Amino acid sequence: METLLSIKELGVVYHTERSKVYAVNGLSLEIAKGESLGLVGETGAGKTTTALAALNLLPKSAERSGDILYEGKSVFHMRERELLKLRGGEIAMIFQNPLTALNPVFTVGEQIEMVLRAHGGGKNRQIRERAGELLETVGIPRYRLKDYPGQFSGGMRQRVGIAAALASSPKLLIADEPTTALDVTIQAQILELMKELQLRSNMSLLMITHNLGIISELCQHVAVMYAGTIIEYGEVAKVFKNPLHPYTIGLLGALPKLDGPRSRLTAIPGRIADPQNLPPGCPFHPRCERCQEECQSKTPGLAAIEEKHFVSCHLYTKEVRP
Ligand code: SF4
Repeated sequence: METLLSIKELGVVYHTERSKVYAVNGLSLEIAKGESLGLVGETGAGKTTTALAALNLLPKSAERSGDILYEGKSVFHMRERELLKLRGGEIAMIFQNPLTALNPVFTVGEQIEMVLRAHGGGKNRQIRERAGELLETVGIPRYRLKDYPGQFSGGMRQRVGIAAALASSPKLLIADEPTTALDVTIQAQILELMKELQLRSNMSLLMITHNLGIISELCQHVAVMYAGTIIEYGEVAKVFKNPLHPYTIGLLGALPKLDGPRSRLTAIPGRIADPQNLPPGCPFHPRCERCQEECQSKTPGLAAIEEKHFVSCHLYTKEVRP
């Protein structure tokens, strides 16, 4: 499959008054056209920072290294005009709280129309017609175009957020915990809708979540993040059936079946690595029951264990060494 977004050895350090925060540490990842990839990890693992970096939206104070290529072109070296086309155009993003993306003083129709005008234009009547179609696509009758975001429930607002995101016909949709704030029934409806829309439009999807059930329902591939880097990556079926990294095994707990009930992350002893004070060697070693001497000083690299299944752990690199 053709690569759409390629993240190469991304590093992001935030400078605070007193210290440095190592949010992303040498992360490499690719998303192909039409692919759905889940980025999973605990809060503070660097998931959202990675998404913001893909849109070149990191604060100016952030120190970054590595590169991110969108259709072969460096996002970090794009001009302002190219970035405007990229953000909300080629790449759209939906957030946990749609109210942060929707302006309360404009009707939802006006907001969807603004996106349509910015990315393609057309006559007023055509734009209004398209806005109505988009609202209907997400299951909301078009007469509600004249309503304000505050007149919608949480689940309906997220649907509006998805309609607005789709207005630019993005090639990549980044969804950052889009259903966390919603109740379970509405969550299921929104996920079903996203799955259907992604398949229908062949859009790529980067789903950022801490919920493994969402990944198993929606994604072809999964990348497990810990302390700002990928520690396991592969096809969802392979990783869920045969998790290798002790952290992934901990996340999956009792190894739920793909068709089993949706599960949230199980608790893993200890705390997530402090990004202001990362441990040497494997960043997971202070929490790892299988930690060995070399884990405390040597950082493991990501190695292929089977086809389309990679892990960053000394246990496996040892096993595969000749
Ligand atoms: Fe555990 Fe060592 Fe593997 Fe890290 S490298 S996950 S400490 S066994």
